[in-house]
Amino acid sequence: MVSEDAPPGFVGAPVVVLGAGPGGYAAAMRCHDLGLPVVLVEGGAVGGAGLGRGALSSKTWWHLANDYARACSTDRGYRVTVESPSYLAIAAEVDEAVRERRACLEQQLRVLEAEGPSFRVVRGRGRLEGPRCVVVRDDSGAEQRIDARAVILATGSTPRRPEAYAIDGDRIATSDELDAWPEFPGRLLVIGAGVVGCEFATVFARFGRTRVELVDRQPRILPFEDEDVSAHVRGAFERLGVGVHAGARVEALRVEANEVVCMLRIGDALREVRADRCLVAAGRIPCTSALGLATVGVTPEASGALAVDGTRVRGTDWLYAVGDLTADIALVNVAELEGRHAAESIAGLAPSPIPFDAISAIYFLHPEVASVGLGERAAIERLLEVDVAVITNRLVHRNVSMRATEGFLKLLAAPDGRLLGLRAVGPQASSAAQGIALLIDRGGTTRDLARCIHPHPAVPEGLQECARLLLGESIHKPQVFGPDLLAVRRHRFA
Ligand SMILES: Cc1cc2nc3c(=O)[nH]c(=O)nc-3n(C[C@H](O)[C@H](O)[C@H](O)COP(=O)(O)OP(=O)(O)OC[C@H]3O[C@@H](n4cnc5c(N)ncnc54)[C@H](O)[C@@H]3O)c2cc1C
Repeated sequence: MVSEDAPPGFVGAPVVVLGAGPGGYAAAMRCHDLGLPVVLVEGGAVGGAGLGRGALSSKTWWHLANDYARACSTDRGYRVTVESPSYLAIAAEVDEAVRERRACLEQQLRVLEAEGPSFRVVRGRGRLEGPRCVVVRDDSGAEQRIDARAVILATGSTPRRPEAYAIDGDRIATSDELDAWPEFPGRLLVIGAGVVGCEFATVFARFGRTRVELVDRQPRILPFEDEDVSAHVRGAFERLGVGVHAGARVEALRVEANEVVCMLRIGDALREVRADRCLVAAGRIPCTSALGLATVGVTPEASGALAVDGTRVRGTDWLYAVGDLTADIALVNVAELEGRHAAESIAGLAPSPIPFDAISAIYFLHPEVASVGLGERAAIERLLEVDVAVITNRLVHRNVSMRATEGFLKLLAAPDGRLLGLRAVGPQASSAAQGIALLIDRGGTTRDLARCIHPHPAVPEGLQECARLLLGESIHKPQVFGPDLLAVRRHRFA
């Protein structure tokens, strides 16, 4: 796999993919489908943050926390006797989920490698050393050079570790380290109320062993989301017993005699918060610094992200970047789509652009939050004319039967009826997302949604009622139920 196999012109040279997280793995598989020889280089564990210390692991924590909280609930007409949860046992179960999934990915790599020389996995950390040239250094320090027809960078991201925070990976940790804690902390301070911070605040609060304080310097939690979504999530946190401090700046954070001491400035006041442990969830930084980008004349943006046209790194015709390395949305589904897009571009297929207007996401909170496409706040900021219908879950049969009617469904459509977005807060909120994402991608309208036959009872029926609201045909009448239960807002900018 060295330059002698790859004569000038790079005919027969492989596509080299750096990183086997969701983006790189998907890219390698798509290259394989398309008959492109591929070398997949992985410096850590296959699956990346998509499996360990990220999407799959945190979702396993979330499901186990939900199961536990449900078993402990006393409002269901029955009571169950449950043992205290063991942090170590739960962390071991999370680990098992990650190992199961990783074994599956590794098995496929072994089979494809055994099929022939056009699929290779190289263990080690890769970097660029000039155009179309990758050098991989393994754990023993040995290096090998691979000449490539194209390189796909998929090296992901790492937690931001603000220097002022004295992160020691133990008392003050990031999401990469918390599974090594020995027990549930009695008091947990979470710094950062973005998705990762809010998800772990939910997990610890739902296990009922931890008093959680959630801090963010922004005026509200989930600051990038619509106001009604963040307000609902904040209320839900407060009902769970989580202390929420928005608009709070961390002035100092340190460990003192096995205790985390945090000084917060809220307005003009200083407030001290003491905790047993602290999770710093202050965002993530793209892993571009060790990639040798200077050797190919590429400079990342100030955030560390790479500017791309589609998935091709701007200013190059052979270098691609996918997943958390790019400045767009950092999600597994987006990383996979981008990986596939890069492979198809290299194969000359001119793939259709990534449909960023129809990306779906779930925030694993209590209750769950789902989002697809455009939000109301973004629409107003962009002066886009939109019609918005909101229905409370109290009017959705399925929620009534679940005995869980907190939350709402919100549908956004253009004045001509084209569906643009969804925000859903409530149990099974994500079940409303898939259909809307597909409809948005296909140019579907409120009329299409109103006509669709949903199973009954199902959460998406609430969205169908939103579509009917916008069409003036709803089963529940706004004048009867009032704006707290049903609302229509038509944003116009003359
Ligand atoms: C706590 C948490 C929860 C999350 N929850 C969700 C969720 O619920 N849903 C969702 O969609 N997304 C979620 N995400 C985001 C998601 O994990 C990432 O967006 C996704 O993993 C990005 O994929 P990637 O392939 O770009 O990078 P990664 O998954 O980070 O993989 C990068 C890979 O590259 C390897 N690598 C790095 N440098 C080199 C090098 N020089 N040479 C070779 N290999 C290298 C790494 O070892 C790693 O395996 C979550 C993230 C976190 C942190």
